[in-house]
Amino acid sequence: MRRVQHRPPMPDFPDTLIAARDAIAARQISAVELTKDLLARIEKLEPSIGAYLSVTTDHAIAQAKLVDEGKRSGPLAGVPVAIKDNLCTTFGTTTCASRMLENFRSPYDATVVRKLDDAGAIVLGKTNLDEFAMGSSTENSAFHVTRNPWDTSRVPGGSSGGSAAAVAAGTAIAALGSDTGGSIRQPAALCGIVGLKPTYGRVSRYGLVAFASSLDQVGPFGRTVADAAAMLNVIAGHDPKDSTSVSNEVPDYLADLDTPLKNLRIGVPRILEQGIDADVNRAVSAAIEKYKELGASIVEVDLPHAEYGIAAYYVIAPCEASSNLARYDGVHYGHRTREPVNDILELYSKSRAEGFGAEVQRRIMIGTYALSSGYYDAYYVSALRMRALIKRDFDQAFAKCDVILTPTSPTPAFKIGEKSTDPLAMYLVDVFTVTCNIAGIPGISLPAGFTAGPTPLPIGIQLLGPVFSEPMLLRAAAMYESATDWHTRRPKLV
Ligand code: GLN
Repeated sequence: MRRVQHRPPMPDFPDTLIAARDAIAARQISAVELTKDLLARIEKLEPSIGAYLSVTTDHAIAQAKLVDEGKRSGPLAGVPVAIKDNLCTTFGTTTCASRMLENFRSPYDATVVRKLDDAGAIVLGKTNLDEFAMGSSTENSAFHVTRNPWDTSRVPGGSSGGSAAAVAAGTAIAALGSDTGGSIRQPAALCGIVGLKPTYGRVSRYGLVAFASSLDQVGPFGRTVADAAAMLNVIAGHDPKDSTSVSNEVPDYLADLDTPLKNLRIGVPRILEQGIDADVNRAVSAAIEKYKELGASIVEVDLPHAEYGIAAYYVIAPCEASSNLARYDGVHYGHRTREPVNDILELYSKSRAEGFGAEVQRRIMIGTYALSSGYYDAYYVSALRMRALIKRDFDQAFAKCDVILTPTSPTPAFKIGEKSTDPLAMYLVDVFTVTCNIAGIPGISLPAGFTAGPTPLPIGIQLLGPVFSEPMLLRAAAMYESATDWHTRRPKLV
């Protein structure tokens, strides 16, 4: 892997969560100063990146003032973060990057937003996404595209592309995203940062606008593994408002983070290398070598049903989406047509046709079709059977290894427009990420190199672990991170 020298554009404020938290605690910088530095950086860089859908300046400064006055405290006191715009906030709007919810103001905060607030964090704004989190490039936003800070002619990944781009560009210290089939890990990989999808049920989904409820999970973006762990410390835990959240005790994910794992067994699936970009392959092989140097042993594992992951995911997710999105009819929720209508059905259909973009409509149609009588067994039930087999593959693999290592994405960031007219090509981008959601296990993406081109693009590796193995997963990731310097690189921004 070529070593790339990226000089300055280091902002002159601490740009990792741990550094920012410590600088504020030591009173080297005030929360208001740091928040204003970030807001100034947003103003400077947003025209070329477009990571945010809304910036909540007044709210952020007011929250920061309270930290400086000692009226708000906690493990993230004064740390400015960004929130994906499918998480409900009582301040500002919650649009899901959809015309359908363009003016929606939530009457309540998502539990994760509440928890960040209780921890003293400052919310800078709401970030761009593919409409209703459906997509892998953030091009499906109804409002604007988000550009990759490493190369603004390329996508940041998706659907949480706004959150990933904000952290990579240094216009947020950390961020929240949601991951239904890869939407945290894939943009993290394409933007050169860390992204974690927790175990299903580890983090509350209350106030996360539902896409596919059995797959959705909220998780953090950070520059480093420790930053992601610090965020998970705050957002994890049981929530009486989400019956699928679990009451397992929340460990301190930062506690043993720097203690390397002894006898770590890394599983590498045999399917690797087909249809994967050459630079990505090289980075994955180099990461495997690095882990060997660190004392890990490599075991080959079989995931015989992984190849059906995309097919199963693109039935299950649209089925659940078609049901979840039925509420946006212009009456219960969302945009209502101004066109004259003859009856209630016409009101529904016109409102939905105007409010939803092409990809969302495609998913609703696929899901409704697959769930309809006569097709239900052929599609939905088959996909659920495949889901059980994919889960069993992981159970069998984790009997032989502690974590599984794969690329996060088969390619680095692709050009804006390159795949946006070919939905199937876009769906294949998720080949390494969807099985994790299907099985409900945790997965993390971390920086593992750069492409060799004239404009180096970040490459990510993914580590997967058994349910509730986040402490081990984070430690395994931290081991690699501390032996490499990819996470210290910064994009050259204007
Ligand atoms: N790219 C996948 C999709 O389009 C995953 C999205 C997500 O994780 N929210 O459905």
